[in-house]
Order: sequence, then structure tokens, then C-alpha cells
Amino acid sequence: MGIGTRLSKLGRMSDEHFGFINTPTYRGSTVLFKTLDDLEHGRARYTYGTAGSPTVESLESAWTSLTGAAGTVLCPSGLGAVAMALLSTLKQGDHLLVPDSVYVPTRALCSGFLARFGIETTFYDPLLGGDLERLIKANTSTIFLESPGSQTFEIQDVPRITEFASRRGIKTIIDNTWATPLLFCAHEHGCDVAVEAGTKYLSGHSDLLLGLVSARAQAWPALKKTHQSMAMLPGPEDCSLALRGMRTLHIRLKEAQTRGLEMARWLQAQPEVATLLHPAFPSCPGHALWKRDFKGSSGVFSVILRPGFTRERLADMLDHLSIFGMGYSWGGFESLIIPFDCREYRTATRWNPEGFALRLQIGLEEPDDLKADLRAGLDRLSAPGSAAEDR
Ligand SMILES: *Cc1c(COP(=O)(O)O)cnc(C)c1O
Repeated sequence: MGIGTRLSKLGRMSDEHFGFINTPTYRGSTVLFKTLDDLEHGRARYTYGTAGSPTVESLESAWTSLTGAAGTVLCPSGLGAVAMALLSTLKQGDHLLVPDSVYVPTRALCSGFLARFGIETTFYDPLLGGDLERLIKANTSTIFLESPGSQTFEIQDVPRITEFASRRGIKTIIDNTWATPLLFCAHEHGCDVAVEAGTKYLSGHSDLLLGLVSARAQAWPALKKTHQSMAMLPGPEDCSLALRGMRTLHIRLKEAQTRGLEMARWLQAQPEVATLLHPAFPSCPGHALWKRDFKGSSGVFSVILRPGFTRERLADMLDHLSIFGMGYSWGGFESLIIPFDCREYRTATRWNPEGFALRLQIGLEEPDDLKADLRAGLDRLSAPGSAAEDR
């Protein structure tokens, strides 16, 4: 069945809910048992709020089928899902490899929280292909991947890395948020565990926080057990909203792709833009791998501006945009823009573009309006000012 049909059918339990199409939003902690015997043997489909409900189960089972995994657990945020995935494969004394282009809060989790528990992280160049031999230690247990990289969009050679890891019994976890399972099949490309910040495209409306972690058979029991030990669950309303978002995910992603490509092409032609970092364009590091492995692109990408503009000019550009909002996250219906600078924290690679860098999320507004908003902003950026200002 095609993706639209699958997204329409997945996770539905209408027969158990009087024929209603959507699984109701079950709120609840206690589940009552009928007899002492049932209670003592946990003999019930649902036993307690933290152990699952029909709402949670609908979303989990839909995601498991969509990703082709053995199982899925849900977390209250994308970062929570990253933490859950890592805690399921790591133990005290282990060594972990993480790409230098990783989502910054993931970096902080590894070098802060995990370090406190005796787990050592080495950050690696996301573009080193499968050449990880020299980075491996006897205690390396997990390789983390994120492709494309946050903000800078480097595409990793996922099949080579997962093949390298599986030969050595090392587990692989990928943060697949940008592509979603629709544009990149993480488990088919060898990843043991895949994380999705459902906050982004699955939600699609900037109104919920959610994380999903799917695992292949060999990584599933540990993931399930870790999740049970912590009982870190999203609320039932958020699960219902995610199920609602899932039904239109393919349509919204297709629009994100079309509009993202149109805006990227337009930006590339503006004289203030020096480099386009969009996986579907040859100027993006790893573009050939994107072409080989991905089924498309979503609507988030970056540009590096020509050098020479001042921070004041940049502020003038960004402060007065009328459609683009400035704020974190993405995947919603609205367009966003943020400046970023990786110089302070990168350790394995050098990030040193000469101009300012901007990340854009293209929403569902009319592209012509978006172009006019950005063009007016770029005019403010490049307007001639005092000699001191334009130094
Ligand atoms: C946003 C994001 C997360 C975290 O999701 P939250 O729900 O905001 O915690 C994790 N990874 C990537 C790549 C993201 O873009």
C-alpha cells in the first residue's frame, strides 16, 4: 500500500471504540482489575497508566509499522527521546561516538549528564564516511548519527557507518527528525535505534512536544526496559494530536519539500547569499549521499551570507521581518528564521564561514510573500550605512 493509505490506516482501533474512527484520548492512572487473581497475575490488557493506554498504543503501533521497527516507545519531548535511546544502549564505563554536527542539546547531554555517569563521548567529523576505525576503543558501545546535521546539514554515510558498527557489535542510534521515516528509512539503512522529535513534522502545528524512539529487534528489549524503568511518557492529548498530525504527514512534507526547494533556489540567487546548505543542492556537504539514500527533502535548510555585514545590520534585517518569525524548533505551518554560529562548541571540525549563517524553516505561507519579506530584510542588511557601520 502507498504511504497515504498507510498513514490513513495505521494505529486505528475503531472496532474497539464503537466504530469511531479515532482512538479516544484516554486519561488515567489507575486501571481496575476484576479479581484478586487478575491483579496478582497482571491479567489485563492495560494495567496502569504508565504501562500504556489505547491512545499511547495507537501511536506506538502506527510508528512501529511506519518505521519497520520491532517496537516504539514515546517520550515527552524529542530531547527526552534522544536521552532514552542513549540510556538504552549505554552503561557506566562505555565510550560513545557522536557527530560534531549533532543537535546542540544532545551534545550537552553527552558531555554533561552522561559524563557524570562515567560515559565518555568522542565527537567525530560527520563527513568522515565510514572511516571510524581510529576512533573506536575497546569500550565503544554506541555510535550516534544525525543526518543531516543540525543547522549545518552535513549528510552522513549511514549505511557505511552502520555496517562498520554491526561488524563490531556496536549499536547505532540515529536522530532522523529532519527526514522523518517518510524520507529516510533509518532501520533499513542499518540503524538499530531511530529517534524522531515528533514536535516537528509529526505535530506540524507547533502545538506539542513529543519524542518517538523505534528499535530493531536486537535493540528493542533494552529500549522497552529502559523506558519502563523511567515511565517517561507524553500526555494523552499530545499522543492524540500526534496521531492527527500523522494522517496528513505525507501531504505536509510534500509541500515542505516543494516550498523549501523554491525558497532555497531563490535565496541562492540573491547577491547577499554566499552558500546554500540544503541537502538537495550540490553545495551541501554530502549531497551525493542524500541523492543515494533519501527519498526527498523537507523544508528546513540554511544559508551563509556574504562576509562584511555588521551585526547591527543583521539585527535590522531580522527584527523587522513581517512573516518569518524568530524562534527555535520547526516543522510547523509557519516560517521561521534563526541565526546560528557553531564556532564556540565544535570540537572535531572547524566551522568558520566568513559571513553570518541563518537557518530557515519554510512554512505554508505563499512563497511570493515569503520572498518579498526576505528581500526587504536583505535590503535592510545590505543598505549602505555609515562608514563605521559598514566596516
Ligand atoms: C528539535 C529537535 C530535537 C528535540 O526535540 P524537542 O521536542 O524540541 O525536545 C531533537 N533532535 C533534533 C534534530 C531536533 O531538531
